[in-house]
Amino acid sequence: MSALIPLTAIPYPVPEPAKRFQAPSRQSSSSAQASPKRSSVAVIFGTRPEAIKLAPVIQALNMQEQAIRCVVIATGQHSRLVQPVIDLFGMRVDYNLSLMQPGQSPNTLTARAMTALEPILAQEKPDAVLVQGDTSSALAAALTAFHLRIPIGHIEAGLRSGDATNPFPEEMNRRLITNVASWHFAPTGANRRQLLAEGVAAKTIFVTGNPVVDAFLTIRRRVPATERLRDILRQAGSRRILVVTMHRRENLGEVMAGCLKALRQFVQRHADVELVFPMHPNPAVRSVADAVLGNTERVQLVEPLDYPDFLALLSRAWLIASDSGGVQEEAPALRKPLLILRETTERPEAVQVGAARLVGTSPRRLAAMLESAYVDESWHGRLRTIINPFGRGKSAVRIVAALAKVLGVSLRKEAA
Ligand code: UDP
Repeated sequence: MSALIPLTAIPYPVPEPAKRFQAPSRQSSSSAQASPKRSSVAVIFGTRPEAIKLAPVIQALNMQEQAIRCVVIATGQHSRLVQPVIDLFGMRVDYNLSLMQPGQSPNTLTARAMTALEPILAQEKPDAVLVQGDTSSALAAALTAFHLRIPIGHIEAGLRSGDATNPFPEEMNRRLITNVASWHFAPTGANRRQLLAEGVAAKTIFVTGNPVVDAFLTIRRRVPATERLRDILRQAGSRRILVVTMHRRENLGEVMAGCLKALRQFVQRHADVELVFPMHPNPAVRSVADAVLGNTERVQLVEPLDYPDFLALLSRAWLIASDSGGVQEEAPALRKPLLILRETTERPEAVQVGAARLVGTSPRRLAAMLESAYVDESWHGRLRTIINPFGRGKSAVRIVAALAKVLGVSLRKEAA
C-alpha cells in the first residue's frame, strides 16, 4: 500500500533550543512504565542498506501489532535499489515519497525529504520515529521528528570513523543524529563506549547487535539463488571469485579509477582469478568501471544483484574488495576475507576479528594486499572460527523489546 498526502503546511510546535542528549520525550519514563498502552512508531528509510537492516525490525514490530502500530515510510532516495528489498521482505510501505532525482545533492535531498516528511509525521503523530544509520534520509527524518518533538530511536548508533568528512556525508550525518536521538541502539560494546565518551546517557543506550545479521540469516536460509547468479557462477567456472563493490561518494573519480586499475592488473596477472563487480546504478560509478574494467578477460561487470543473489555470490567468493559499510558486516557473518577500500572504517570490529583488512585507497597498497591475500592460504582457515562481532541475528527483537520498554508498552512473550 502506498499513499501520498498533500504537502500542505501543517502547524507544528516551535522547538525549544536543543539540549545536548536531552531529546524530547512525550511522557516521563515513570508514567510511561506505569501505563501499558498501544504506541505507534514510524520507521523511515531511503536506501538499500537501510531497507535491508530495517526489514527485520519492521517484521518484529508487526509481530507485536497489538502493542505497537508500525507506520512505514520510504523516502525513495534510492528507489530502484530499495524496491526489490521491499518485495523480498514483503514489507508494507504506508507512504512512499518517491524523492529520487538523478544527481541531486545531499542538501536538496535532505530539504525535500524534510518538507515531505513533516506533514506525514504531523498527521500520524507517532510516539517515536526509528531511523537507521547515516544516510541523508535518516538525517532528514531525525531532524523532522526532532522539530515536531517526536522522540527518535537511532539504529546502528555509535559508529565513528573518526574523520568528520569520511565517509562523506555519512560520518557527519550519524554524529548529528546522535545529538537529536532519545534512544541509541548500538550494534557493539565499542559503539556503546563511543557514545558514552561523547556524553550520551548510559540509560539511553542499548547494545543490540546489528539487524543486518538478522536479515542475512533469514534470507540465506529461505531464498534460493536465481538463474542470473547461476550464469555468473558458471562463467567463473572453478576460478577464484574476487567480488568487488565500490560506490562511495568520496571514492568516485580518480580514486576509484586507481583502485580498479590495480584490480584489473591483479586479474591479468592471475589466470585463476575471476572478478565480479555488481555495479551501483550511479552513472559516476558506471563510467569509471566501464572505462577501466570494460572488455577485460575474466572480469564481469554486472547489474546490482538482488540481495539473496548478492549474499550467495559473497558466500562463493574467494576474496571481497569493497568500500561498502554493509559488506563489512556481512563478510564476518559469512567468514569471508575482505579488503576495505577506504581510508578509515567505522566498523573496526571486522578488522579486529581478522575478517577484514583496511587497505585505504592507494593503488600500490591495494596491489600489495591483493598479492598477499593470493599467497596467504591461512587467512581463510583462520576465519572459520571467528565470532561475528555484529551479533547472532537477534537484534530486531532486542531493539523492539528496548523500544517497548521506553515507550511503556507490554509485548507478547515471544518477542520480548
Ligand atoms: N547489496 C545487494 N546487491 C548488490 C550489492 C550490495 O543486495 O549488488 C547489499 C549488500 O549485501 C549490503 C548492502 O547492499 O547489505 C550494502 O549496500 P551499499 O553498499 O549500497 O551501502 P553501504 O552499506 O555502503 O551503506
